[in-house]
Amino acid sequence: MTPMPTTAASTAPQPIIIRMHERDNVAIVANDRGLPAGTTLPGCLVLVDAVPQGHKVALVDLKAAAPVLRYGIPIGYALKDIPAGSWVHERLLDMPSARSLDNLPIATVKPPPMPALAGYTFEGFRNADGSVGTRNILAITQTVQCVAGVTDFAVQRIKAELLPRFPNVDDVVALEHGYGCGVAIDAPDAIIPIRTLRNISLNPNFGGEVMVVSLGCEKLQPERLLPADSIPLIDLRNRATLDVVCLQDDTHVGFMSMVESIMRQAEQHLQRLNARHRETVPASELVVGVQCGGSDAFSGVTANPAVGFCTDLLIRAGASVMFSETTEVRDGIDQLTSRATTPEVAQAMIREMAWYDAYLQRGGADRSANTTPGNKKGGLSNIVEKAMGSIVKSGTAPIANVLSPGEKLKAKGLTYAATPASDFICGTLQLAGGMNLHVFTTGRGTPYGLAAVPVIKVATRSDLARRWHDLMDINAGTIATGEKSIEDVGWELFEMMLEVASGRKKTWAEHWKLHNALVLFNPAPVT
Ligand code: CA
Repeated sequence: MTPMPTTAASTAPQPIIIRMHERDNVAIVANDRGLPAGTTLPGCLVLVDAVPQGHKVALVDLKAAAPVLRYGIPIGYALKDIPAGSWVHERLLDMPSARSLDNLPIATVKPPPMPALAGYTFEGFRNADGSVGTRNILAITQTVQCVAGVTDFAVQRIKAELLPRFPNVDDVVALEHGYGCGVAIDAPDAIIPIRTLRNISLNPNFGGEVMVVSLGCEKLQPERLLPADSIPLIDLRNRATLDVVCLQDDTHVGFMSMVESIMRQAEQHLQRLNARHRETVPASELVVGVQCGGSDAFSGVTANPAVGFCTDLLIRAGASVMFSETTEVRDGIDQLTSRATTPEVAQAMIREMAWYDAYLQRGGADRSANTTPGNKKGGLSNIVEKAMGSIVKSGTAPIANVLSPGEKLKAKGLTYAATPASDFICGTLQLAGGMNLHVFTTGRGTPYGLAAVPVIKVATRSDLARRWHDLMDINAGTIATGEKSIEDVGWELFEMMLEVASGRKKTWAEHWKLHNALVLFNPAPVT
C-alpha cells in the first residue's frame, strides 16, 4: 500500500483534506487548527460540524450500519445516519471484531524483487561476532533490581573518574530492570524476560564486553542469565568465566569495597573498548527497529509511510529491519501473512498473534485496550484505524523472519519481531533483537530515548515539529501539506540514519541525554 494524499494545497489557510484510498468514504482534515463548520472543502462539500485537525469528515451520506472506510477497509460501522460533511468521531462508530486467525491468505503476495541499493556505507564498530555497533558503550548487566542503587552509584563515579581517560568510549550504561527475584522463574513464560536481558547484554553497541553485577542470593543467578555458550565473544577471547561482581561476596567489607570492585572491573572493559575504532561498513550492517508512540491520524499519512519507504530502501541495501507492536498490526494480519516469504513465516506470525490474543484475554482485555485518550484526541477512532496507519512502517518488502519476544535476530531482511506496543517494552525487546539504530514516529509528541542506541524521532505534523524543534529529528508533516513527498522524507531519513550510525550526527535524545528505562516484558507470575 502506498498512501498518497488525494489533495494537497500549498498555502495554509486553504482547507486540506486527505483521503488515503479511492474506496474511502471519509477523509481527515489536515489544517493545523482544524476547520470550522460551514467551510467549503475541495470538491464543494460543506462542513456540517467543526472538525479538529486529524479528525474525519464524512465525504458522502453514511446510513446507519454502513461501513466507514479508511485505508480502503472498514474501520467501523456507523451507529446512526451520518450526513455528508459531518465530523465522524469514535462515538459514532461500532468497532469491527478482530479478524479470525483461521483461513488467512498464506504467502500469496509475491512482489517482484526490489532492485538492490548498492554503495551506501557508514562508519561502525565491527564486533568479534561479525555484528556492527553504531556506538561504543560499556554496559553493566544486573541480574536483579536489588543491585541497581549500588551499580548506579558506581556508574556515576566511572563516568566522572574513568570515562574521561577513554575517549573512544561513548558512554557507560547500567542495564537496570525490575526483574531477577520475587518471580516464578521456572514458569514457562519466564523465558521471555530472561532471554531479553541476556540478548540486550549482547547488543552490538556493547562490543562484547559483558560485565555483570549480581547480589548473590537472587533467583536469576549469573550463570542462568548468561550461560557460557550464550556468549561467543567470551569464548573467542579465551576468558574462562563470566565477569561477575557479587555484592554478597565475603571479600566485600563495606559499601565502598563493592563500588571499587565494580570500578576495577569496568576499567578493564573500558581499556578494551577504547582500543576499538570505527571502520567503513556497508549499510547492510544496520539493524533498525521501527516503532511509533503517541500516534495521531497523521501517523499513518505522513511519518509511518515515510518510514515504510525507508524500510524498503534499507531492505534493498541488504540491511535488517524489525517492525513490532502486536496489537497495532493484529487488525492487518491478513496483509502480513500474505506478504510472508514462506508458509512457515506466516504460521509463525499467526502463532504470535494467537499467543497475544490469549495473553490479553487472560487479563480480561483485547486489542482495543491499546488506544489512548491522546490517540482519540488526535483523530484515531479505534485500534483498527490505528493499526492500518501503524502497519505501513513495514513498507512493502516480503516478511522473511519472525522473532518471539526477547529473541535475537539471526537473519537479515524484514522481520516481524513480536512485542507489545508499549514504547518502552517494544524498544527494550528490539534492543534484545540486536537493534543498532531505532526510528520512532510520533504525532502527539513524546521525548522518548534509549541509552543503548540512537533514536531518530520523526514528527507526523509540522505543528509538533515546530514546537518541539529541539526534540524531533525529522518533520514528516511536510507530506500532509504537499511540500514534500513520502519518497523525499524517506530518503531524508535513510541519509540521516547513515550519519547517525556513523557517529557524525547525534539525535536530539542523545544531545539532551534523554533515556527511558528498560522495561522487561514479563508475562509470567511474580511471587
Ligand atoms: Ca509503540
